[in-house]
Amino acid sequence: MTDFFNDLLLLFQRLNWMSVIDILLVTGIFFLIMMLLKDTQAVVLMRGMVLVGILLSLMTTFVDLPAFSWLIRSALPALLLSIPVVFAPELRRALEKVGRAGVVNFSLEHIPSSQDMQTTIRAVVTACGRLSQKQHGALIILQRGNSLEEYIKTGVRMGSMVTPEVLLQIFYPNTPLHDGAVIITENRISSAASVMPLSASGILNRSPDRQMGLRHRAALGISEVSDAIAVVVSEETGSISVAHGGRMIRRLDGERLENILLAFYRSPAQEKSSGFTWKAFFERLAAFLKVEN
Ligand code: ATP
Ligand code: MG
Repeated sequence: MTDFFNDLLLLFQRLNWMSVIDILLVTGIFFLIMMLLKDTQAVVLMRGMVLVGILLSLMTTFVDLPAFSWLIRSALPALLLSIPVVFAPELRRALEKVGRAGVVNFSLEHIPSSQDMQTTIRAVVTACGRLSQKQHGALIILQRGNSLEEYIKTGVRMGSMVTPEVLLQIFYPNTPLHDGAVIITENRISSAASVMPLSASGILNRSPDRQMGLRHRAALGISEVSDAIAVVVSEETGSISVAHGGRMIRRLDGERLENILLAFYRSPAQEKSSGFTWKAFFERLAAFLKVEN
């Protein structure tokens, strides 16, 4: 026991500026990892692992158990190796987020004219209004800066104009294309019946609305891994929601939906033309860290 405290004292005596920076760096990295894993199942597992780790190290430090200490020392590298395997989905998501944050589409020819954009948004809003009245479930993804090609591939490729009639036809119950998401890129329906990544975030579980299921989690999922906007019409309640930057805005009427889509959908072109702004930077950082206000 006294050995332990002597060691501790020695450590503090040897502390200098470089070691403080060293500790701050490691703390920062752990903080970033915790922020990325916030609201995911991995946090619970991580907490368990840290607790077991602390317990084991206390046991092997204070009590003299040579064989047990040997077992822990030999098993630890294997346990560390298992972390990437256990956390594979979370790590993948985090790396995808980091990778996508740096990808900016610089080709100006891809910026659709604001007239086309408004026509697209109006078509989506009209379609959602009618789908909501009829209580036909729908999931419509609007691509912005980040490419959704990998998700377009999972569905049936289309190249259709965005009109309310086409969207109503796609989401008509029990038709071949109604299951899954429609992806709209550059004012065209690129695909239908596409499969989106499901959100691992716990925010929908915490909400009072228990009716949220896979469709809403798929909308939230794609908004977490990309800057796309997802519009959901609930089959059960007919309510319209929008997911953006890992957050869900719920129970929208036609007017609010149109305003939100106009505000969000227009922004990539504006961001490109206005260049770097601190406001946009902090908005992105907040969305990246999923800070909920
Ligand atoms: P609703 O309020 O419309 O019932 P919900 O959030 O409760 O929505 P579910 O009832 O589970 O969700 O909806 C299932 C439908 O969601 C499926 O029929 C399918 O069309 C769609 N869906 C489920 N998973 C995905 C996915 N990964 N990507 C795209 N669409 C999906
Ligand atoms: Mg449901």
